[in-house]
Amino acid sequence: ATRRITGLQPTGELHLGNLLGAIQPMVRDQYTSDSIVFLADLHALTVTHEPRRLRENTLRQATVLLAAGLDPDRALFYVQSQVADHAELHYLLECTTAYGEAHRMIQFREKSADRADVRLSLLTYPVMQAADILLHDAVEVPVGEDQRQHVELTRDIATRFNHRYGDTFVVPRVVTPTVAARVMDLTNPTAKMGKTTSSASGAIGLLDPPDLVTRKINRAVTDSDGIIEYDPALRPGVSNLLEILASCVGGTPAGVAADFTGYGQLKRGTAEAVLGLLRPLQARYETLSRDPGYVRLVLAEGAERARARTAETVFRAKRAIGVLT
Ligand code: ATP
Ligand code: MG
Repeated sequence: ATRRITGLQPTGELHLGNLLGAIQPMVRDQYTSDSIVFLADLHALTVTHEPRRLRENTLRQATVLLAAGLDPDRALFYVQSQVADHAELHYLLECTTAYGEAHRMIQFREKSADRADVRLSLLTYPVMQAADILLHDAVEVPVGEDQRQHVELTRDIATRFNHRYGDTFVVPRVVTPTVAARVMDLTNPTAKMGKTTSSASGAIGLLDPPDLVTRKINRAVTDSDGIIEYDPALRPGVSNLLEILASCVGGTPAGVAADFTGYGQLKRGTAEAVLGLLRPLQARYETLSRDPGYVRLVLAEGAERARARTAETVFRAKRAIGVLT
């Protein structure tokens, strides 16, 4: 089975974009591929954070992923900071990366724009991401469109390391979902829905109560001419709803467009489809959240299994780069 890795940052509430673009594909793939899923809490430290909330978010996110159907017996599931090899390989890869390469990353530019307190780790975060991926000899990295550039950087770093120091890493490739690779913000449909970048009304939280979900979708930005057509450039708001709907029910955005004649009807249909997806997830979350000890145990076991594999990769990299092993 092909080895695949997915990471999510516990920076805030998981949203519909995370579910459609990352979590659902990962749950689907755990039966056919050798899947690794980790909570990237070290990455969450690259932006302003509150210690207590980070810990809460990490445990909640782990619980949401299990509620969404992630099976820890099928996928290797753990928290990044509990496996020190991420940090160790990160440093070796920093020594294989040029400052200019990190500085070119679009996400760094976006997240550092008009901020006085940009953390140094925000600049080097894609390098740690390379470490996350290369540690596991992952072959495929399923990500939303926003992460493509970072995975390209991982490929560059791995290729350079192999070339300089001898074959050490598997050079991974990007895979993106065909629908919902970039779910847009409901109130600002030219920007992607994001945990840290969207306003409360722009993102649908996976644990939002049903009436709130409906309200957010009803208030989503559309157009004034009433035309329902899939054209992301010309009609970003309507196209986003079509994309969400298509991803929830299966089908293509252009295909589902034909079922609707007005925005009100489209919004009702979309809300229904989204709620159909969230209801069972939220019910399982309710049950699991009563047993945080179980979730912590799952994560601890995952970290132990991960370490057995990652220690070997770090050893390989250390030997190749020339430190005394
Ligand atoms: P942050 O604002 O903290 O960066 P985020 O919403 O971008 O949060 P990440 O934790 O960075 O979420 O990404 C987790 C996964 O979800 C990645 O695979 C990413 O590509 C995917 N993803 C994030 N946002 C979207 C979106 N709007 N549509 C589809 N996939 C998304
Ligand atoms: Mg992100």
